[in-house]
Parts: sequence; structure tokens; C-alpha cells
Amino acid sequence: MASFTMTARPFKTRFAPSPTGLLHLGNIRTALFNFLLARQAQGTFLLRLEDTDALRGHEKYARALEQDLRWLGLAWNEGPEAGGQHGPYAQSERGSIYKEYFAALESRGLAYPCFCSEHELAIARKTALAAHRPPRYSGKCRALLPQEVQARFARAEPATLRFRVEEGKTVEFEDKVRGWQVFSTDDIGDYVIRRSDGTPAFFFCNAIDDALMEVTLVVRGEDHLTNTPRQILLLQALGLPLPDYAHIALVVGADGAPLSKRSGSKSVQELRASGFLPLAINNYLARLGHTYDANALMSLNALAENFGLSRLGRAPARYDETQLMHWQHEAVLHLPSESLWTWMGEAVHTLVPMEKREEFTAAVRANISFPADALRWAQIVFTDQLVVSHAAREAMTTAGQEFFATARQALEKHGADFKAVSETLRQTRAVSGKALFQPLRAALMGELDGPEMAKLLPLIGVERARKRLSI
Ligand code: GLU
Repeated sequence: MASFTMTARPFKTRFAPSPTGLLHLGNIRTALFNFLLARQAQGTFLLRLEDTDALRGHEKYARALEQDLRWLGLAWNEGPEAGGQHGPYAQSERGSIYKEYFAALESRGLAYPCFCSEHELAIARKTALAAHRPPRYSGKCRALLPQEVQARFARAEPATLRFRVEEGKTVEFEDKVRGWQVFSTDDIGDYVIRRSDGTPAFFFCNAIDDALMEVTLVVRGEDHLTNTPRQILLLQALGLPLPDYAHIALVVGADGAPLSKRSGSKSVQELRASGFLPLAINNYLARLGHTYDANALMSLNALAENFGLSRLGRAPARYDETQLMHWQHEAVLHLPSESLWTWMGEAVHTLVPMEKREEFTAAVRANISFPADALRWAQIVFTDQLVVSHAAREAMTTAGQEFFATARQALEKHGADFKAVSETLRQTRAVSGKALFQPLRAALMGELDGPEMAKLLPLIGVERARKRLSI
């Protein structure tokens, strides 16, 4: 077994997901905070897969979450594929390590087999709650004699392994977000560290691995806060080092309920498929329950440099889709042209001629948030399928036939030079402002809003513009 000296340890955070589903924004935020803190301290960001339960599909979800993290730019420096000194990094491969620690606890009388059935425990729990007592384990199997234990094992009775928690003590620690925490061991009771099927319980391997993998700071959801005193007791009993803990407020939906895999919040894969950009997601999540001084879009490095646990709020962080959309728009505005073009996707690539692609991306950039928006503008500009909105139709009717006759003449004279065309109209028909621009936009693009006409008209071209102005 490993032995430890308590010299200052290099800074290390970790993300320890249970691969039982696709990552959603709530989990990613935890990963991001851990990543940002590690990057800020030039420390290590570790990834560990907590796959000890009997659920299926771990392999598939593990690969999916690795892909999501990479796509978001949250690369880990230690863990699956990255390697490191403390592997294996999937808990399903660490059974022999956990066995050693179970044995160590048992041999010192700090853990004991418990034969109580689920049914029995459920009744005890109910009785305790009815009597307004904490529903902790009664300690029934604590004092079983060795012969009795042997006999029950010989009869193949299923048993869990319980960690013995000393009564009448307190466990205290400084939570880096929530401040000083005090728990009474009387509320905890002896708890299960190995299930009756032999698999280690979450509390146990999670704490052991943080210690063995030399994690120095655990940032996780506050739903784990009550696990922490149990884990501290365990690590102390084993003489293993304690990490610092920071329990962050959970992300809640509009209904105030936690965003979870089950509550229908979008997975990272879905967000990616609809065209969300990694920087948009990172900028949004880094501000969800955490404040920065600057409101501008930041690179991952800048997000890391300015991140601070002291800037985290304790109140639940409310998911707000309009904020996410704001950062998406910002991220699109700042995307390098080449990447913007790639992001627009195949459907746009087929419609936009090669030599027009730079002009097109520059023209529509400020008016799009998703590839689907870019496709709509590509169809308006480069195909004959113009859908004219009701409002656009009205603006055209109000302008009248003569307005468009002049517009056509101006087009023949000046070509696709929007400034010259609109100037001619202004002078000839004595119109300006909305009365000038709205009907033109309506006829040429079928809508009253959109990218600058001066940029789009050359792309639409004289021939197509002529048809659209023939009203
Ligand atoms: N596997 C746990 C989870 O996904 C990890 C909790 C922790 O970060 O300690 O909730």
C-alpha cells in the first residue's frame, strides 16, 4: 500500500464522471471549473472514469465524454489515453487496489461485514424517520462474533462491508466555496463501503482514488457535500492525504429543479450537432454562478487566468438559454473566417461558389448564430427560391410599381452597386430612410431584416436582382 509524506503537493484537480449517460451542461460546468483552476495554477487536470456500478454502456459513454471534453478544449493531462503515474484511470480496472484497502480496514477492525437485508434496513430507516431520528444504520452487525460471521458466510448469506464510524465526534473542514463545515458522526453512522455483490461503493473508491492519484482540490456539485465527512473519516482512518474540497452550487432549470441527464436538458452532443461553438459554451458556463469583471468573449486561457473560487456564488445557478445564445453570437462574431466557413457545413458549401465564399461569410457573419441561419442566407442569395414574408410583401406594395421601375433602371446603369442604386432612387423618387431601404430589401431578400444590402447585392448579382425587382 502507498505511504504518504505530507510535503506540499503539486496542484491537481480532477473530473470524475460516472459514464452512465451523455454529458450535459451541468456536468461540463464542473469539468470546466476544474480545468480552469488547473490551467491557472499550471497544475494537472486529471480525468477518472467512475465506472464501478453494474450499469451497462460505460464504454460507449466513456468514449462519448472524452470526445465532448476534447471538443470543448478541456483536454486532461492525466487519465485515460493521456497516461500518468497513477493509473489505471477507470475504476473498473482498480479492483485489486480497493481490495487491499478493504483488507486493511477489516484487519484493524475498522470495517465489518453486515448481513442486514435491504428490507430490514428500509424498515429501520422508516422507523428512525418516524421518530425524528437521523436514519443512520443501527449498528446491528457491529458486534457479531467471529464464529457467527463465519457461519453466515458458510451459508453464503450476502453481506456488505461497513465502515465503522466512531460516535460522538465531529468532522470539520473548510469548504473553499461554502466556508467552514461541521458534521456530527452521530448523524452519519456506519456506512457501506462494499456492496453485497462485491463492488466498491462510490464513497469509498472516489475518496481512495483522489488520495492515490494525488488530487489536491476536489471541485464538485454541492449534492456531494454530505459525502465529504464520510470520505474524510475514511481517508483519516487509512492515513491517506485529504484533498481540499469546493462544493459548487448546482445548475437549475427554469423550474428550479437541478439540470440533470434525466430532466431533458440538452447533451453536449446535441448542442454540438446544432452548431454551438465550444467557446460559446465555455464562456457561458464559466459565468454561470461565477462572475468575471469583463463582459467580453474570452479565450480558455483568459477564462482560466481570471477564474476564482471566491467569485463563485452559493445560490443555485439558473440556466438561461438567452445568455447561452448571447455567447454563441459572440463566438460566431469572433471565429476566424476559415473556421466560420467550415462550421457553416456541407449544405452551405454546395450553394456558395468558391470565389464568393469570403465575401459571403463576411456579409452574413453578424446575422447568424447557427449553420442553419447561414444556409438560409445562402439560399436567399444563391438560389431562386425566394420566400417573401408577409411584412416584406406589404413594404413592396406600399412602395409601388414606379419605385421598382426606377430601381430596375438604376440597376441596369450601376450594376450591383447598392450605394449607387439607392442614391438614384433617393434622388429620382424623393424617398429616404425606411421608405427607401425597406422595399428594396423586401424585394431582393424577401425579408425586412438581414445583413447589409451593400454586401449582399454583389453576391445576388444583377441578373437575379433584376428578376426580383420586376414586380
Ligand atoms: N462519479 C461522481 C459523479 O459523477 C463523482 C463525484 C465527485 O466529483 O466526487 O457524481
